[in-house]
Order: sequence, then C-alpha cells, then structure tokens
Amino acid sequence: MTPRLSQQHSLEPIYQAFLSELSSTGFSGEVETGYGARMTQAVDNSVYQFVPQGILYPKSHEDVAQVLTLANQAKFDDINISARGGCTGTNGQSLNFGLILDLSKYLTQVLEINPQEGWVRVEAGVVKDALNDALRPHDFFFSPDLSTSNRATIGGMINTDASGAGSLVYGKTSDHVIELKGVLANGQAINTAKVSKDNFEAQYQGGALELSQSVAQLCLEHRHEIEQRFPKLNRFLTGYDLKNVWDDELQSFDLGRILSGSEGTLAIITEAKLNLTPLPAKRCLVTVSYDSFESALRHAPQLVQANATAVETIDSKVLGLAKQDIIWHKVQSLIDAADKAEMDGLNMVEFAGTEQQVQQRVDSLVSELSGGGHGVLGFKVCQQAQSIKTIYAMRKKAVGLLGAAKGTRKPIAFAEDTAVPPEHLADYIMEFRALLDDAKLEYGMFGHVDAGVLHVRPALDMCDPDDEKLLRELSDKVAALTRKYGGLMWGEHGKGVRGEYGPDVFGDELFQVLRQVKALFDPNNRLNPGKLVTPANDSSELISIDAQKRGKFDRQIPIQVKNDFIDAMNCNGNGLCFDYNHYSPMCPSFKVSGDRAQSPKGRATLMREWLRQLSEAGVDASQLSEQADASWLEKFKNSRNKDKEYDFSHQVMDSMRTCLACKACTSQCPVKVDVPKFRSEFIELYYKRYLRPAKDYLVAGIEDALPLMERMPRLVNFASQNRLSQLIVKKSLGYVDAPALSYPTLKQQLSGHPALGYDLASLQSIPAEERQDYILIVQDPFNSFYDAQVVARAVLLCELLGFKPVLLPYKPNGKPMHIKGFLKRFAATAKSNADFLNQLGQLNMPLVGVDPALVLTYRDEYRQVLGDARGDFEVHTLQDWLFSNLERLPQVEAANSTYHLFSHCTESTALPQSFGQWQAIFERLGAQLEFKNLGCCGMAGTYGHETANLDNSTKLYNMSWQQAMDELDHDKILVSGYSCRSQVKRMAKTKVKHPLEALLELIS
Ligand SMILES: Cc1cc2nc3c(=O)[nH]c(=O)nc-3n(C[C@H](O)[C@H](O)[C@H](O)COP(=O)(O)OP(=O)(O)OC[C@H]3O[C@@H](n4cnc5c(N)ncnc54)[C@H](O)[C@@H]3O)c2cc1C
Ligand code: SF4
Ligand code: SF4
Repeated sequence: MTPRLSQQHSLEPIYQAFLSELSSTGFSGEVETGYGARMTQAVDNSVYQFVPQGILYPKSHEDVAQVLTLANQAKFDDINISARGGCTGTNGQSLNFGLILDLSKYLTQVLEINPQEGWVRVEAGVVKDALNDALRPHDFFFSPDLSTSNRATIGGMINTDASGAGSLVYGKTSDHVIELKGVLANGQAINTAKVSKDNFEAQYQGGALELSQSVAQLCLEHRHEIEQRFPKLNRFLTGYDLKNVWDDELQSFDLGRILSGSEGTLAIITEAKLNLTPLPAKRCLVTVSYDSFESALRHAPQLVQANATAVETIDSKVLGLAKQDIIWHKVQSLIDAADKAEMDGLNMVEFAGTEQQVQQRVDSLVSELSGGGHGVLGFKVCQQAQSIKTIYAMRKKAVGLLGAAKGTRKPIAFAEDTAVPPEHLADYIMEFRALLDDAKLEYGMFGHVDAGVLHVRPALDMCDPDDEKLLRELSDKVAALTRKYGGLMWGEHGKGVRGEYGPDVFGDELFQVLRQVKALFDPNNRLNPGKLVTPANDSSELISIDAQKRGKFDRQIPIQVKNDFIDAMNCNGNGLCFDYNHYSPMCPSFKVSGDRAQSPKGRATLMREWLRQLSEAGVDASQLSEQADASWLEKFKNSRNKDKEYDFSHQVMDSMRTCLACKACTSQCPVKVDVPKFRSEFIELYYKRYLRPAKDYLVAGIEDALPLMERMPRLVNFASQNRLSQLIVKKSLGYVDAPALSYPTLKQQLSGHPALGYDLASLQSIPAEERQDYILIVQDPFNSFYDAQVVARAVLLCELLGFKPVLLPYKPNGKPMHIKGFLKRFAATAKSNADFLNQLGQLNMPLVGVDPALVLTYRDEYRQVLGDARGDFEVHTLQDWLFSNLERLPQVEAANSTYHLFSHCTESTALPQSFGQWQAIFERLGAQLEFKNLGCCGMAGTYGHETANLDNSTKLYNMSWQQAMDELDHDKILVSGYSCRSQVKRMAKTKVKHPLEALLELIS
C-alpha cells in the first residue's frame, strides 16, 4: 500500500512570526506556505533547487511596501525576499530560500497607454506578449524581444535587462524605461526618472535623494575605470549598469539604469513607464539555409550589413529536433532545402520598416544570395506576418526542443547566453565547440548572430556527480573564453548564481563599487541575497554556481523509478506551460487558476518530490501498483483522518485533481511532458491508501452502463433530467448537468439500415477487391449514446460517397477509466478492444472514429499500457479518412459559405494536420473553412460535469469560447469534439454542428 509521507517541512520560526505579523499589517495579497506550493516555486529553468519559506502574491504597490516595511524591523533582520515574475530564470535568478514575492499573479494591469507621446504605464507583472496585445490596436509595440515573451513579465525583463532578436535596432529593455516605481529594502517608495545633473531634487526627496546622489557620485568618481572596463558590446553589461546611468556628456542621470538589470537585488519594481516603438509598416523575413553552421556564422556579418533588423541563427542539431516536432509541420514550407540532409545551418534575416525600405533591402539581399557562395543551399522570402511568426516560434522553441534530447544527459543552462563582439563570434564559437567536443558532450547552438550572442546548452546528467563537476570546469573555461574575446558570460539572461565571475570581469576597483551600490540600496542584504554582489562591509558570501542543485534530489530516486516516471523527470522548468494567452491550448488549469502548482511544471515538480519522498521512505514507486490496496476499512480510516494526519500525497493529489487531462502539455510542451500519463499513475497509487469518491466510479463505469441505459432512454432521461434528481446527484456524487441520452437512439435512427448488420464472418468472406468500398465505424460512448444523430449522419455521409458503412458493435474505449486512474481496468478494456480492432484491422477496411479525443486514445494511451500487445490496428479520424478519399467527394463550384471550425484542443495539438485536412475537404465542396484557435472549452470529457470544477469550467468557456460564440453565426460554427459541443449546449444553450453535418448540407 502507498505509505503516508508524513515528513513535514515546517517554516523557520522567524518566517512564521513574520507571516503571522504580516496578516495584521493590511497586506491584502495571498500567502502560500504549504510545502507543495513552496516546492513548485523552488525551480526555474536552471539546474538549481531552492525551496523557499513562503510565497507572497501582492495585489498592489502598497502590499509590496507592507512586506518590506515589516521586514525592515530589526527583529526580522534574517528575513530575505526575492521578487519573481515569470520564473524563467536560467541561472537561479529568482530562486531563494527565503520569501518569494511573486508579482505575476495580480500586478498584471496595463495602466495607461499614451499613443500621442508613445509610452505606456504598466504594473510589473504584465506579461510581455500581453502588453503587446494591448498596444497593437494603437499601432505600437514594446520592442525588446525575448524567447519567453508569452510568460516573462515586464518586472522580470527590467530586472534582467532582457533583449533578444532585433536588439541592434530595438535595444534592450533598459533603453525603453522612462520611469520606474518601486519599493526599497526599507519599505520606502522610489520613483525614478532621468534628471539633470544639477537638479536631483526635482525628482527625489529624503532618503531617495541621498541614495541617488550617492550612486551618481560613485559612478562619476569611477567613470574612467568604468569606461575602460565595461565591455564594448551591443548587449552592454547587465547587473548595475554603472556606465549608462550617466549620459555620455555627464549631463543627465537616470537611476532607473542601475535598477534595470539589478535582478531584484536593489529594489522591488511595481510599475514602469516604458517608451514604445511604432509597429513597422512592413516586415519581411528571409530564411537562408547553409551547408554548415560555420558557413551560416561566417556569412552573418554580411547579412547584418544588408541593413537587417535582426539576424538569428540555428545549427543542425536544433534543426534536426525541430523536424521531429509538431512545429515542423508549419515551418518546412518556409525554408528552402528544408528536407536536404546536407542542410546544417539556418540564418533568419528580418527586415522591418516602410514598404519601400523593406522591399529594397530584400531585393538587394536576394540578388546577392542568388549569386551563390558562402555555403548557401537556398533561401526563401516570407512576406506573411503568420509565416514570420511561425519561423520565430520555431526559433523561440529551440531551447525546449533541445531539452527533448534522449538519454539521461540533458541540455543544461550555465553558459547559455554568452556574448562576444559579433566580429569575433565565428572564431569564438569554433573554440567553444572544440571545448565541448573535447569533453565529448552533445550540444545544439543558436543565437542572435547580429549581437554576438550565442545560446548553447551542453547536455549533462545532473544526477551524475561527475557531470556536476564537469559543469563547474566548463563554466570556468567558458567564462575565461568570453573574456579572451572581449565578451561576457552573461550576455542576455542576467547573472543569477554566476555573480562569482564578477571580480574577474569588473576588476577589484569596480567590483567594490558594485558592492557599495548594493550597500546604498540594501545594506542588510535582504533583497535576493547572494546574487550579483554582497553589500560593501558585509561578510556574507555570494551564492556560487556550486549551489544546491536539483540533481541532488533527483539522484535520490532509483533509476527504474525515474524511467517509469520519465515525464516528471524530464521537465526542465522552462515555463512554456505558463503561456498567458487564453486562446492557446496550454494549460487550461494554470490559466484559470493562476496557480503554478496547477500547471504541467507544477505537477511534474510535485511528482518528482513525491517519488523522492517515497524513495526516502524505502518504497519503490515502480513496484507499488503491484501491491495490494489497503482494505476498505483501512481506507475508510485513512480517509477519515485526512485532515489530522499530514500526508504530502494530498498536496500532490490537489494538484492532479484540477488537471483537465486535455493533453495539451503532451504535444505543446517542448519536451512533451505527458501529465495525464503520470497523473493517472499517481491517482491509482493514491487510492491504494484512500477511499475514492463515488463519482470516480460513476465516471469510470459510465461506458459499461450506457448500453443498458440505452435500452430505456426515456426512462433514464426522465430520471436524470429533472431538477430533483439533478440536485440529488449533485449533492451526493458531485456531478452536474449530466446530458440526456439521445432519443431516438442510434439503433432506432438506423433501424433497418444495413450498417447495423455487423457480422465478422460475413466481412471476412468479402472478396479482397471489394473491401475498399467498406468503412468500419468505431463507436464511442459519447457520440453514440448522447449525440447519436452525428453517428447516424456519419453513416449517411459514407453512403453518399459510395461506401458501405458498417457500424461496429459498441465497445468501451476506456478513456474515462484512464483519466480517473483505474489503470488496471483500463488496461483490460484496452486489451479486449485492441484484440477486437486488430482482428478487424486484418480485413483491410478502414476503421474510422467520429470523436477525435477518443480516436487518439487508441494511439497514445493504448500504446502506453499495452506496449507491443496493442498490435498495429489503426483507427482514423474522420477528416483523415475523408482527406485520403478526397476524390470521392463531389467537386462543387465555390459558393459563398464560410464555416468556422472550433477544434477540440486535444485534436488541434496532437493532430496539427487536422485543420488543413478539413479545409481541403470543405474547399472541395465549395465552402471556406476558417480555423478558430480558441484554447480549451472547459469541458474536457467529464471534467466540466464535476461540481468541484464547474466554476473553472465556466471561466474557461468564458475566456475564449464565449466571445467567438457571441460573434459568429451559430449555424456556421462547427465543433468536432463531443465534449466541446456539449459545453456549448450547456453554456450558450444552443446546439452546434459536427463538421460532418455541414458536409452533408453541402453535398445535399
Ligand atoms: C527558454 C528560455 C529562453 C530565454 N530567452 C531569453 C531571451 O531571448 N532574451 C532574454 O533576455 N532572456 C531570455 N531568457 C531569460 C528570461 O526569460 C528573462 O531573463 C526574463 O526577462 C525573465 O523574466 P521573468 O518575468 O520570468 O522574471 P523572473 O525569472 O521571475 O525573474 C528574473 C529576475 O528579475 C527579478 N525580478 C522579477 N520581477 C521583479 C520585480 N518586479 N522587481 C524586482 N525584481 C524583479 C527576479 O528576482 C530575478 O532576479 C530565457 C529563458 C528561458 C528559460
Ligand atoms: S512542463 Fe514542459 S513546458 Fe512546462 S516547464 Fe516543464 S518542460 Fe517546460
Ligand atoms: S493535461 Fe491539460 S490541464 Fe493537465 S497539465 Fe496538461 S495542459 Fe494542463
């Protein structure tokens, strides 16, 4: 039986005292101190793991001030605080063992947009892409770009002085900061703005005046050394920019320049006024493929000289991984020579400006490229905004793609953003490569060649102590190599734990100046301590790159267990699953809750810790599923004592329970972390110890019960669809809005139809040459029993196309059992179904299912539980089959009708080709089909029917589906998933069609 994991990780007394006092200060934000919540905030995209004491989610500037004012009291001297935004640091930037002040949950307002003067005022937790969404209607954008733009916040960008593609033209974040509002370590507010050298009083008073004058004076005193020491790079130095704090003529001073890039070590930023860049009238991107990465690098300076706005590059390794990813489907047509084996490097050259400028520049580059040479294999000009977005999406996904590498060695961030002067980049990279090749390491490279920034993450196994040592060795060598080429170890992502290289980069004199700056702002080393520098006269040490790593904990999990739960182990924390965009499928439970524990990353982190704690308790998680459950009586007792007896498993369960099992993570996460898989495994093990809720049995058993219920549909509907019984079911089982059975039933609708006459022997006796006319329709529980008309119409459609449809006898698919973690039952169901379908597969007649999510279960979950025993039968989606029989559809002249496809999110993420297939099918029938990318509808099988989820289900629907439903003609809306149709029916009180119903209309 699964043991109780009783080891509590209590808070240190000083933090307990602090938090209890905080509640009486008027702090209106949220506080989380549960171990699970703290654990999920212990990792970023780096190799480090620092479990904080608590997480605070302030709701206002005043809340932040309350926290720091209280912390400033002498009795709380040992409290320390790190601000956090999207938590996308690569070197532990926002990790801390103290308190985390997470501004990304509530400080998310775009406060004021001033298009006339070209600026915006935002709260610090606004996500960069969300800001640009708000600015787009005003024809502006916030131009510093970064790969994590769909989850990184403005506060994080300011504090790492973020930049990315196009930085030659668009600059870094600090180039766009006009004013900052924040809170100092002592709780006082600070508002920065550029001031003239003689008039600091115009902006600052009291302590802030003294502070700004002292910093200004320090920077003047050491100006000569600063000029000498600071590297001459486009990506000028982050981490106390002593140089640009004064303008070149030393006439004006901007304290905001010091705060930008300070990684939360000087103040907490709550608001920023930022300058904006007009959206270019025209953008164009040329992809250039090369015979080697070196060719791509050596050619880059010429591309920059062609007046490019950005030149980005990726090597063959990244290209190879992209080819295996869902993204390649969209990208390949945008790259010349994409399928050539010899393509070993790619440059992406962007031009932005007026129509005329861009056209001239592109024409001139095209004529140069047409001349050949430089190892160029081919090039393509992408004019469409969507194509440019797609190419950049691949580039932005590069880190994640590398993370999908097989084996125990995974790409690790520690030297992932070095910068050298661009003219030295090719030579620097050749030397860097030699270093990695000598160490026999795998790696992929990509970067911003125009700015000399290279992204490389050598693959290391952080569970292997030797590799951990190698990380230190390599890190030192790379730091030295960057210095040799006049560059920086931290060219883009900030320093984090790499502050220890500071003295070598700055020299003694300037390093002491940096420490003095820190002492002026944060004399007691309270803010993000150990990062960048320690205050002057403070004896504490910097956190080093040898600090506590995740590997220390992961290696406590036995290898077999790690292999069995590989998805949880593989999450590298890059945070792509925190995507802010309501219209993207990833990840509905995080979107609706804003709770990182309810994200794929949160779930993977909790699962790893759960496995570690089991190992610590001497339990092999791989063997647990074979062990007997506790007796009913024991389960009853365990469940009754849930509130009294601490068990870490409950916190893991709380996170798993809210997962919709929508599977977006399975394909959208760059390393394809499959949460539904380990979630169902966890649930199964959890309920070895505790009693299951009755509704789980209801959900898991529904597929078996449906054929019985179908015998008396009216009676069942009478019993289930009245208010009293609904109330009883809601109160007793926690289940709401159960749909009515179809009446007339499917059998009644098809009564007398030959499609009902399934008989294996007769099918086997059909001569081989006639079999291609047959189509075997695989039933699913939801369409067949609750939306029977769709299945009946599928039969009709097949017939109209000249096929002979045969409705296979209904067999449970098992997906609901899988979702609820009845894995043994699921395996048995899958085996019986697979045997049946394999037998039919022998007939060489296509098997087709109507519901995409259930068809996908045959492919994924069946393979997971059955392995080779699944056999090789294939169930096609309807569109897949229709697309391969396009010529059987009547060719119709183009008409004016346009339909809108709201695809099921499992379908759109796992089968990206689906839309193109549907579109071709509709085009053949003379109709236009428009794809609506809407994210999750909130139903996800039975998730939306559970009372506990109703609220979130409704919120999810309202996030994206409701608006589309309000705007479009319902008659033209097509919804492929049964659950989505049933969600629309309950939320919008309207019935929408399955795409096949529209096809029938068009044909008739
Ligand atoms: C896959 C991947 C790709 C990346 N690509 C890029 C890239 O192209 N360009 C780039 O510049 N960076 C990149 N990064 C690094 C990272 O995304 C950036 O540094 C980003 O700006 C961090 O923003 P965040 O909101 O996630 O901040 P966090 O990671 O949460 O915090 C970053 C630092 O800022 C501090 N901080 C955050 N908010 C505040 C605040 N309100 N007040 C004071 N301090 C604060 C934190 O304490 C921490 O020190 C990448 C990271 C990953 C994982
Ligand atoms: S689950 Fe995937 S997307 Fe999310 S942090 Fe982990 S690896 Fe990244
Ligand atoms: S299955 Fe869906 S809800 Fe669950 S973690 Fe993955 S993306 Fe989030």
